[in-house]
Amino acid sequence: MHRDGVVSVVVPVFNEEANIQPLYERMDQVARRFAPLDLELLFVDDGSTDDSVPRMSALAEEDPRVRVIKLARNFGHQLAITAGLDHAQGDCVVVIDADLQDPPEVIPRMVERWQDGFDVVYGVRERRDGEGAMKRWTAKVFYRLLRRMTKVEIPVDVGDFRLLSRRAAAELRGMREQDRFVRGLVSWIGLRQTGVEYVREARHAGETKYPYRRMLKFALDGITSFSIVPLRLATWLGYAASGFAFVYLLSVFVQKWMGATVEGWATIMVAMLFLGGIQLICLGIMGEYIGRIFTEIKGRPLYVVDEVVASGAGDRPGVEPDRHAAERGSTDLESVG
Ligand code: UDP
Ligand code: MG
Repeated sequence: MHRDGVVSVVVPVFNEEANIQPLYERMDQVARRFAPLDLELLFVDDGSTDDSVPRMSALAEEDPRVRVIKLARNFGHQLAITAGLDHAQGDCVVVIDADLQDPPEVIPRMVERWQDGFDVVYGVRERRDGEGAMKRWTAKVFYRLLRRMTKVEIPVDVGDFRLLSRRAAAELRGMREQDRFVRGLVSWIGLRQTGVEYVREARHAGETKYPYRRMLKFALDGITSFSIVPLRLATWLGYAASGFAFVYLLSVFVQKWMGATVEGWATIMVAMLFLGGIQLICLGIMGEYIGRIFTEIKGRPLYVVDEVVASGAGDRPGVEPDRHAAERGSTDLESVG
């Protein structure tokens, strides 16, 4: 179902109890700035175990603009965003984190750019306040590395805070891949894209849900879904190793001819360990890709919805979208949302 003149805002939430109310209040203020457009606020609960769900549900019951999509368990940030996009009914959809690191006050500027005719308006982090030096540095290295490995133009210093037009959102809904790197998928779509700069603030409350282990998984998803360069690495290492072996062979002949007898044990050990290491690395890289083929081939749905909380949901037929329509490859918005 599609609703005219509505800006949908999708918020993935995983244990953000102290951020729900402040976010809601700021969104409420912000919505006045893009009036006469209406607001639709979609909280996607990603298996929170704290007080987030009751707080969001209370908001949904008193404010008809708010809906809560409660996922059946923790599916991860990228899938929570996907669930929100699938359920959004507005003319455009904005994705924003629940922790107020991305200020809602930027949304009216995004809406303006969309009204100028852009399909994707992404937030560019001009500065990142309140994030550790290590996080900033790893993010920087990762985005620059990814840029070199893929033909898709993925902008640097850009997160998932962005606005999508109805048709861009419909295209994204059609992409049902499992290990999702949503910001890359959005770049892949193309259409008319632009950025607005903003200062990424410190978290309002709570702590990051992205420990280094999860960041690493996220980075690997980004690389493996947009590049096969790592697979080629094996070939290059192979060439380098055999080139080196050939040169070394020549030097062995020379030494033999000059009568120098070499003990050789250390050399053999080093060469063996080195080559063994390279082989294991290459196997690991292939494993990363094969593992993803494995999850993909099972064709499971991306997420499971436990329930949708909305005031008067009963008298709004069709709020439950046909999630499987998107899985069948349909990008027709009317049949999805
Ligand atoms: N999040 C989620 N599921 C998860 C992890 C995070 O929905 O498994 C949400 C989280 O509640 C927040 C957003 O994703 O709204 C970004 O997470 P976080 O702020 O922890 O990431 P960071 O900003 O530190 O990279
Ligand atoms: Mg955050």
